[in-house]
Amino acid sequence: MARITALIITACLWATVQASQTQTEPKIEKQQFDGQRAMAHIAQQLVHGSREPANIQARQHTLNYIQQVLQPLSYSIRRQTFQAYGLQGTNIWASIKGESSDNKKDRRQIMLGAHWDSRSQADRDADPKLRNHPVMGANDGASGVAVLLEMARVLAAQPPAVTVDLVFFDLEDMGDIGKRPYSIGASQFIIRNPDYRPNAGVIVDMVCDKNLRIPRERHSQSRAPELMDRLWTIARQQRARGFIDRTGSFINDDHVPFLDAGINVVDLIQYPFPDYWHSTADSIDKCSAESLQQVGNVLSEFIATY
Ligand SMILES: [Zn+2]
Repeated sequence: MARITALIITACLWATVQASQTQTEPKIEKQQFDGQRAMAHIAQQLVHGSREPANIQARQHTLNYIQQVLQPLSYSIRRQTFQAYGLQGTNIWASIKGESSDNKKDRRQIMLGAHWDSRSQADRDADPKLRNHPVMGANDGASGVAVLLEMARVLAAQPPAVTVDLVFFDLEDMGDIGKRPYSIGASQFIIRNPDYRPNAGVIVDMVCDKNLRIPRERHSQSRAPELMDRLWTIARQQRARGFIDRTGSFINDDHVPFLDAGINVVDLIQYPFPDYWHSTADSIDKCSAESLQQVGNVLSEFIATY
């Protein structure tokens, strides 16, 4: 009887200690992806206009901005400059080490990529007089970078098990201008980093439209179906209605050079393209924080569960 009483008293004491601990312990707030913050990153990239090759001021500003966001978050950052097709370009590669990086057998690595340049000619503009004007690229360029920069904050606050590389590609959008191809920066990245072999990668491009519609891009679906299934399963669980569960079109984007190199990288991209695509009307009023939030939530879960 005494023994039982003692046990009860001990149990009660233990419960009291537990209760007081939960009361006094500082509450650690889990950092979550914030679509509004991502919107602010879009606005910052547009301060000096299009990030086309001729707009040196805007390009310098955006490169510095990306670096200024990442540096205090203790990412290791590499700037890689290159010359190709008569242009000079710069890719930024930022990494945050995951807990699995210490474990040789179970080392996992994910790449998130976006292009930070914007197109030099609005060749789809309704007004022929504007077709030699540059594209502002709020959606086509800045939105993907914004997702990566906001993700950088979340990952730094609670480092995941996997190592995450955020790669900002230059010169994606000079395709068919002066007979240049698309994805010059992503192709140069592969040439310059031949040993780079992440387990998986996701490119985000044109992900802020108010009426977000991302089908399963066809190169990604046919060449990395398991990775696509993983993303669309998460999207379904989260009821992310911008993710459309049907196969879309073949789109040449920064994932293609990676797929060609045998690396599983897929593309999240709006399709059909919005009517302001490659026009002077690709401005921030077309974007919504809610769309960015959907993409950020899916990618957060993807990274956390990989
Ligand atoms: Zn484009």
